[in-house]
Amino acid sequence: MVQADLINPSTQAKSRTFKIAGEEDLIVGVIGYDDSHILFDHKTASQDIADPDAPYWRQLVVESQPSHYMLLEWLNGRKCDGAVWDVLRKPSIAPKKLAKAEVARVCANQDYCNWQMSDETLQSLQESNRETLEMYEARLALDCTKTRPEWYFQRRSVPRLDCEILDYARELWEHGQEVLHVRNTQRHARNSGACMLYGSPCKFLGICSGHDSPDSDKWKRKSQVHVELPGLEGDGRGVLTNSRIRCFQTCRRKHYYSYELGIERQDEAEKEALAFGRLWHVALAAYWSYFLEGNNVVCNNESPASTVGDFSNTDQAAFAG
Ligand code: SF4
Repeated sequence: MVQADLINPSTQAKSRTFKIAGEEDLIVGVIGYDDSHILFDHKTASQDIADPDAPYWRQLVVESQPSHYMLLEWLNGRKCDGAVWDVLRKPSIAPKKLAKAEVARVCANQDYCNWQMSDETLQSLQESNRETLEMYEARLALDCTKTRPEWYFQRRSVPRLDCEILDYARELWEHGQEVLHVRNTQRHARNSGACMLYGSPCKFLGICSGHDSPDSDKWKRKSQVHVELPGLEGDGRGVLTNSRIRCFQTCRRKHYYSYELGIERQDEAEKEALAFGRLWHVALAAYWSYFLEGNNVVCNNESPASTVGDFSNTDQAAFAG
């Protein structure tokens, strides 16, 4: 987790109310090649990533998350030269039924998609012509690694000019002022257009529609409002993250329940998409730890700012622009 003061780029004033924070994946510098400091983020997606003109990549041009992370790095004296997005598309194929001839071939060769099949799978095929989990895994592995790896995985650079990061810093300051305003006036406007986003009801719909109350036994107060930042000290109400700003932009009432009142359902379960994303982060962290040790590459997340350049007067002058 990385934190920094929220600074008004026009006046250099520090916010007395808010800090900014984010959970970055990785910063790497390539020793012996150049002194680049590149921010890597790991993403999962359900939509097309193979087409360079796909909406996924177009949206990334205006996505605030790279700017948020790069601003955090800049404010901590580790100015990034760029960002790279590693994106994994989730599989859309499912276990399937096999034709009789295919079943016969697998049983005869004891092989499926270049994998040796276990006795359990061969036995199961005698009783059913549906792929076992082992067979599905073999077909999926072949699809990911040989047949169409570009469908599943893409790595793209995400450029951000200094002026774009400064623009984001200005927007972030303004958002901070707006959050402060609604906090002080206690006017947390509802946005009915966001109640059914992504085809499912907002978790606070029961409260907003008068069928439930934040004080009912279905809800509890969170001890810390940023669940994605477990290492954060305090209750987190004075911290702005990219997720929090996005929530505020989506619906101020939702922001109030999530980040000001800080409530969650007693039975709140981790969503499948979140769980998958978390697993993907763990897997890529393991991959990178191996890669970093063996390939002359360093992770700078833990480096003191002085080793990679402070947030110098020159940089601060840029913020004053
Ligand atoms: S918090 Fe906002 S998005 Fe959620 S139900 Fe209420 S008005 Fe709709």
